[in-house]
Amino acid sequence: AKKYMVIDSAARRNLELTETMREKNKKGSLLWVLDKTKTAMGARRLRYFIEQPLIIPEEIIRRQDAIEELNSRVFDRDELREYLDPVYDLERLLAKISYQSATPRDLTAFKSSLAMLPHIKNLLKNFSSPLLKETYEQLDCMDDVYDLISNTIVDDAPVTIKEGGIIRPGYSEQIDRLRQSKTEGKTWLADVEAREREATGIKTLKIKYNKVFGYYIEVTNSFKDRVPERYIRKQTLVNAERYITDELKQLEDQILGAEDKLFSLEYQIFSDIREQIAAQVIRIKQSAAAISMTDALCSLAFVAGQNRYVRPHINKSGVIDIKDGRHPVVEKVIEDGRFVPNDSYSDTLDNRVSIITGPNMAGKSTYMRQTALIVLLAYIGSFVPAQKAVIGPVDRIFTRIGAADDLAGGRSTFMVEMTEAAAILNGATEQSLVLMDEIGRGTSTFDGLALAWAIAQALIERNRCYTLFATHYFELTQLPEKYPSAENVHLSAVEHKDRIVFLHAVEPGPASRSYGLQVARL
Ligand code: ATP
Repeated sequence: AKKYMVIDSAARRNLELTETMREKNKKGSLLWVLDKTKTAMGARRLRYFIEQPLIIPEEIIRRQDAIEELNSRVFDRDELREYLDPVYDLERLLAKISYQSATPRDLTAFKSSLAMLPHIKNLLKNFSSPLLKETYEQLDCMDDVYDLISNTIVDDAPVTIKEGGIIRPGYSEQIDRLRQSKTEGKTWLADVEAREREATGIKTLKIKYNKVFGYYIEVTNSFKDRVPERYIRKQTLVNAERYITDELKQLEDQILGAEDKLFSLEYQIFSDIREQIAAQVIRIKQSAAAISMTDALCSLAFVAGQNRYVRPHINKSGVIDIKDGRHPVVEKVIEDGRFVPNDSYSDTLDNRVSIITGPNMAGKSTYMRQTALIVLLAYIGSFVPAQKAVIGPVDRIFTRIGAADDLAGGRSTFMVEMTEAAAILNGATEQSLVLMDEIGRGTSTFDGLALAWAIAQALIERNRCYTLFATHYFELTQLPEKYPSAENVHLSAVEHKDRIVFLHAVEPGPASRSYGLQVARL
């Protein structure tokens, strides 16, 4: 049995699920409204929800129950979101750990994320809806991994792996000893410097270090004549000379030797810890999944609360009944409270096809898209922007909207239009939702009208899918006279003096006129 509703790429694009059609921005898409996740994992999960709507009612209801419960315990929900906030992308960190590219700092980031898990788990314990309960059980706090990192890696760990400073003092005796002899070596250096100043009487004598020469004694030119025989000259600068001595050489070997050993030992231990963590891949993935699920559900719950969404009733009888539905994106981008809600209704008998007429700019596209988005939201398991919604079985959403040409693919605008129409006519079942926006515009008026008529007729007679059919061909408003399963609706507008005012309300019957010239004047 299929698990997901089919949303083809045309529908994905036309409904602007994750990006807008023109600008390809997230802003303005459905995802933009829904995504109030706190973690990268949650954001990915939510996108996946949107791209793969569920189809099995029981699974939809599980998500709905979770969202409803999260919104009945708003304090717990918001606290959950606070604890999610500092959680890093565990999946990405895990990938870096497995590919051995994780740095010590990645491990401390990993640790600080793990530190949030017990709090999250503790909050999840308060919930009893099956999906949240399951998520609670799935979430493994991985105390052992947390302890492993916190016992071994210093808190302010470096991003480099081969320059030491990684391992916590007290973890390895050998490391502590090497670090000590490194420090001791440095004190000895200070001793040597003091002693040499005394012996030579060169007050400005300094011991310095660079990567090329190692440690050396630097004497400024004014003291050149006081340099003893045993100094071996290494380099001459404009105003100073650099020397080494046997003693200095020995010390250098000790210090650098200790450092080499130290760095490679630290690296070894670090790599070993990284491997130990990588071995926990299954547990980490499982916890990451629990976190992303919690985050995605919290986001849906939060958005539902903020925007006054309601829980749709998923029914099996085939009725789609949306009362006062709103377009989730348009209502956010227009002035607060200015969105005019509209109903959508379809059942298995008389109401299958709505022929939608009305002036340009009246809101036909918005109305059609909002119906599809509400159905889709319901299938995601989300609450929906409406007063009330009953959503019956939908196997697939088809869209034929707007002009998109595929010249690179060798298809003209009209060819794309017809190809998409053919796909709909060949694919739509009685359980499909079809949006047809002004089909037949890409050719001459009468050919276009003939096509629009024939396509509408086929959808009514043969496919019998729930269809929203917007058109400027008024001839099509005769179809409902012939077919009881079709009805006319229109988006209303009124003339005020010589201006046109859009009411954006869907009303029964065909539009009286198209106002094309008035809108053009606008
Ligand atoms: P055309 O025939 O030219 O394609 P249309 O009838 O499809 O036009 P839309 O694109 O749906 O019109 O809507 C035009 C604008 O009207 C939208 O961008 C939106 O700002 C506003 N609008 C649409 N529906 C509503 C509504 N229900 N409430 C408030 N404003 C709306």
